Amino acid sequence: MPKTISGYRDTLLFIDGQWRGAVNGKTIDVIDPATDERIGTVAHASKADLDAALASVERGFKVWSATSAYDRSKIMRKAAEMLRERADDIAIMMTREQGKPVSEAKGEILAGADVIDWFAEEARRTYGQIIPARLPGVTQMAIKVPVGPVAAFTPWNFPINQVVRKLSAAIAAGCSIIVKAPEETPASPAELIRAFVDAGIPAGVVNLVYGVPAEISEYLIPHPVIRKISFTGSTPIGKQLAALAAQHMKLTTMELGGHAPAIIFDDANIEKAVNILAVSKFRNAGQVCVSPTRFLVQKGVYESVVKSFTQAAKAIKVGNGMEAGVEMGPLANERRIPALEALIKDAVENGAELKTGGRRIGNVGNFFEPTVLSNVPKNARIMNEEPFGPVAVFSPFSTLDEVIDEANRLPFGLASYAFSGSVDTIQQLGLRIEAGMTTINHAGLALPEVPFGGIKDSGHGTEGGSEAINAYLHTRFVTQSAA
Ligand code: NAD
Repeated sequence: MPKTISGYRDTLLFIDGQWRGAVNGKTIDVIDPATDERIGTVAHASKADLDAALASVERGFKVWSATSAYDRSKIMRKAAEMLRERADDIAIMMTREQGKPVSEAKGEILAGADVIDWFAEEARRTYGQIIPARLPGVTQMAIKVPVGPVAAFTPWNFPINQVVRKLSAAIAAGCSIIVKAPEETPASPAELIRAFVDAGIPAGVVNLVYGVPAEISEYLIPHPVIRKISFTGSTPIGKQLAALAAQHMKLTTMELGGHAPAIIFDDANIEKAVNILAVSKFRNAGQVCVSPTRFLVQKGVYESVVKSFTQAAKAIKVGNGMEAGVEMGPLANERRIPALEALIKDAVENGAELKTGGRRIGNVGNFFEPTVLSNVPKNARIMNEEPFGPVAVFSPFSTLDEVIDEANRLPFGLASYAFSGSVDTIQQLGLRIEAGMTTINHAGLALPEVPFGGIKDSGHGTEGGSEAINAYLHTRFVTQSAA
């Protein structure tokens, strides 16, 4: 495939084992969010392409579900190795299209390879059960079978990692898949698919499309070939897609928005808390579903924590992710700039203090200042809506009960962070915070071997840990006796 601008490729669809353009030849441009430059194109699927992908994924399921778990696992491990070998080149593509610093992009790719390896191991352990029978000579078996062809929809914030969790779990289980990857950041997820192709995955098992997200989801979700939907994105879209899936009795995994509380108690190791949370907050310019958002700090240390966090925010080097030493790149989409500006303006109008940041940087690229807001009232929109950008929102609290009420106030329940030196407080937080994930006194989320997912409006299902593969398996019961 030709490279256009240094290190970047035009992206094609991948259907039935072939890289190809859309039937009608349509493409859309890919823009570098650091320079506003057009760096390539992505093929834009029409209905005819989706029909081809559906026929392909149906054939792919027949082949792959009949392939032994041992052989599936071998191909997956080879794909993981290829991804590692190619990580430097793919990281450059990811930075060009998404904006994150190259070191972060490379870290995402290597973490993606670990996810593939994890699910390659899980593929070989999808054990069923033998259930003791009431009659002699009867054998009762609960067996695990793949659910069928999957449609997966993934966003632009982690172009590879959002795909790799769904793809690896699905194919480990013996499912085939159509991935609708992000149009804004198409080339790096295509490289993930290429690693599987080069590792020998049979035609039809993995298919890749891009286009108009709503048109594709509205066509694929109800289609009888598709048996399972996995979506990562915003809560409103997730609710729409889950409702459509429910009408057609399709299984779903939904990884949706969050509004993570980050709680710091007076007795915490403050320096450690600030260091860890500043890195977590500004990683990927805050465009992370598990990003710490509501910084809830106990009154005794409130002022000093806001001060040192503000210093940390001011020290962050913002720039083009291709340049050495840059710690935070641009926002991936220009549309997030007015969205963030409106949230910040609303907070200040409601009485919040802007400690640093709050504005776009320059007028080329989507750069935004690392921002800290203090004493933000609960009625400010940013205390209720996911900012999905580099904005930390601080508010003081007095007691454990008060902060747990605040942490649980919103309909979201994805990630939560806490720092305390008290064993009792730590235990209470672990038990009482309503979130799919809680990390206390360190940053410990998102490893392949641990659960990853939300509760409440943040969705359902886990995309990590030993339960994740079950989202792609049915349990069937078979009972047999001698003839
Ligand atoms: P958006 O809601 O327009 O899109 C979010 C993602 O969903 C995109 O990848 C988009 O392509 C996809 N999408 C949108 N409509 C769809 C549809 N009808 N069918 C299938 N896919 C569809 O928002 P955006 O401006 O791209 O991002 C802003 C918001 O999205 C953020 O505030 C955040 O809440 C959410 N988001 C969450 C994650 C996450 O990791 N959970 C990732 C990206 C965006």
